[in-house]
Amino acid sequence: MQDIKELTLKGLEEKLQAFGVQAYHAQQIFTWIYKKATIDFGQMSDLPKGLRDKLKDNFYISDLKIVKRLKSSDGTQKLLFQSQDTNLIEAVIIPAKDRVTACVSTQVGCKWACSFCASGLKGFKRNLSCSEILDEILYLKKEALPLALTHLVFMGTGEPLDNYTQVLPAIKIINSPLGFNIGARRITLSTSGIIPGIQKLAGEGLQVELSVSLHAADEALRSRFMPVNKKYPLKDLIKACKEYSFKTNRQITFEYILIKGVNSSLSNAQSLSRLLEGWKLAKVNLIPSNTISGLKVEPPGKKDILLFKNYLVQQGIKVTLRKARGEDINAACGQLRLNYAQQ
Ligand code: SAH
Repeated sequence: MQDIKELTLKGLEEKLQAFGVQAYHAQQIFTWIYKKATIDFGQMSDLPKGLRDKLKDNFYISDLKIVKRLKSSDGTQKLLFQSQDTNLIEAVIIPAKDRVTACVSTQVGCKWACSFCASGLKGFKRNLSCSEILDEILYLKKEALPLALTHLVFMGTGEPLDNYTQVLPAIKIINSPLGFNIGARRITLSTSGIIPGIQKLAGEGLQVELSVSLHAADEALRSRFMPVNKKYPLKDLIKACKEYSFKTNRQITFEYILIKGVNSSLSNAQSLSRLLEGWKLAKVNLIPSNTISGLKVEPPGKKDILLFKNYLVQQGIKVTLRKARGEDINAACGQLRLNYAQQ
C-alpha cells in the first residue's frame, strides 16, 4: 500500500497507465484530494467504479489529526497535528493585508539545535513524509477559509534541505494548478545553510524563493549559536549562495534574527554589510527575536534595531524589518509543539 499523496501528478499518471487506465483520471484524483480535501476513494464520484476499487487496493489517503488550534489576537492561527505514529507537527497561517501565508514544518524536531530556536530543544525525531507536509497545507487551507492561501513558507520546525526527497515533490504539488496552485515565486524554502541542498536546488530549475537563516556574519559567532556552521562554515555557505544566485539569477533573502547582546551591535551590522557588499541579488530580512522561555533569547530595544537597520540601508544593502506575528500564541518556531509536549 502506498500513500497516494507521495505521487506528483506525473507520477500518478504513470501509475494509472501501468494499471491500463487513462492518465487523465489523475487530474480528477488530484482535484478530489487537493481541492476538495477528500480522504475516501469511494467519494470520487466521477471516477469509474473499477478504478475506485483499484485505487483502494493499491493506495491509501493519509490524514493528520488536529490536536490543538490557537488563534492570536493579530489573526495568526496555529495548528498542532498528531501524526499516525503520534508525533506532534505544527503549522501556522499568517494573514496580512495583501496575502495569507501558510508556514509548514518539514521534520519532527530538528537536529541542528540553534541556540535561539525551540525546534531543536528536544532533538530530532524523523523526517515528515511528502504527504504529511501536504496534509498540513490541506488543513491550513480549510482553517483559513474564507481566506485563500496565497503564499507558502517552509519555516516551521525542521530543516527542509535535510529532507530533500520529500520536500521536492511537495513543492511540485503545492505549485501544481491541480494541487494547491501556489505560484513558485510565492513559495519560500528556508534553510539554516545546508550547502549540498542549496547546490542541488540550484539545478532544479524551480522559481521558488530561497531564504538562508544567517543570523551572524562572522564564523566564530555563527558557530557559537548555530552548530550547523561547524559542518557548513559561513565562508563556504556564502560561496554556495553566490553560485546559486549566479546560476539561477534569483535573489536570496538572508534572515537575520536580532538577539539582544548577541548579534545586534553596530559592529555586527558592519560585519554583515561587509559580507554582502556589492552583491545585488542579496537581501536581508531582519527579525527581532521572539522571546522563548527556557532559552536566554530576547530582542534588542527599538533604538538598537533601527540603528542596525539604518546602518545596512546606508551601506546600500537591501533590507526589510519583519514584524513579529502571533507572539501571544507562541508562534515562533517549535514553541507550540514544545509547550504541548511538556503538559
Ligand atoms: N531550518 C530552517 C527552516 C526553519 S525556518 C532554517 O533554519 O531556516 C524557522 C525560522 O524561524 C528560521 O529563520 C529561524 O531562524 C527562525 N527562528 C527560530 N527561533 C526564533 C526566535 N527565537 N525568534 C525569531 N525567529 C526564530
